[in-house]
This record gives sequence, structure tokens and C-alpha cells, in this order.
Amino acid sequence: MPETKLKINIFGDSVLRKKAKPVKEVTAEHQKVLSLMSQSMYEHSGIGLAAPQIGMSVRLIVVDIGEGLYKLVNPKIVKRQGSQAIQEGCLSVPGASVKVKRSRQVWVEALDENNRPLKLEAKDLFACVLQHEIDHLEGKLIVDYASFLQKLKIRKKMRELKKEFKTRKL
Ligand code: ZN
Repeated sequence: MPETKLKINIFGDSVLRKKAKPVKEVTAEHQKVLSLMSQSMYEHSGIGLAAPQIGMSVRLIVVDIGEGLYKLVNPKIVKRQGSQAIQEGCLSVPGASVKVKRSRQVWVEALDENNRPLKLEAKDLFACVLQHEIDHLEGKLIVDYASFLQKLKIRKKMRELKKEFKTRKL
């Protein structure tokens, strides 16, 4: 991994399991974090990223499925409909892919980066990514949707990855 890339927290890091804190008022500091998150998402070719993935336990997410960038503060699903199951990956669980059953359509309320209330209606992949990122804010990962055997495999893989990182640093 080139050193210029921002660090992403990996499965096993405790920050990913914490319930993220709500933002009382969006400040310049939050705007900075949202920019950093967007940068990191694009650098890692992701389509979504949540603040805990860069080590910050606050309710901020960014999403871009190729139809424009969304920066959301305190996102909350207020209504859902239908179901879908997409094979999902996660920048925090590199190399793993888990089929996750989620709602096909969601209605989300949030604040934008200027502290203004925002309503979103999302379907299909966009709905899937929003649910995935909001899961991150609850400390939930795709691993939690995996079967027992799949979980064991993912844990083993992550341990190997961590060992690799350690060796490379020497
Ligand atoms: Zn993720």
C-alpha cells in the first residue's frame, strides 16, 4: 500500500465496534473530517465510508456510487421497504465478501455538511450502501451477517493480513 493513502481501520480494531456519537452541531472540524473521508474513499476505490473506519467514533458517512458525493451527518433510516441481497465488500474487512440481506428501498434523514436537514430516498445499490455505512455507526460489520464457517475464514484471513502488515513495517 502506498504511504500517501489514509489509514483505514481493519476488522479487529475496537473503534469499529463502538456505537458512534451523534453530532450536536456540524462544525468546520466535521467538514474537515468529511473531506478527509471522501478523499480516503476515493483513494481506496470505495463507494462508501463511515467515520469509525478512519478511527473517529462520530456519526458521519460519505457515499458515492458514481452518481455524486453525499456527505451525511447523523444519518437515520426513517422508513424501509422491500428486500434485496447483494454481495458486499468492506474496506475494513479487506478481501472478504458477504451476501447481506437488506431493505431494497430506504428513506434517510440526516444533516448536510452545513448543518441543514436533508431527506433522501434511495433504492437498490444506493440503499444498500447507506444501510452498510449506517451499520458502521452502530458498530456492525458485514462479518456479522456471515455464516459461522465464513466468519472463521474471515478471522483467519484478517490475522494473516495483520501479521503481513507487521512484517512489512520492519
Ligand atoms: Zn464497510
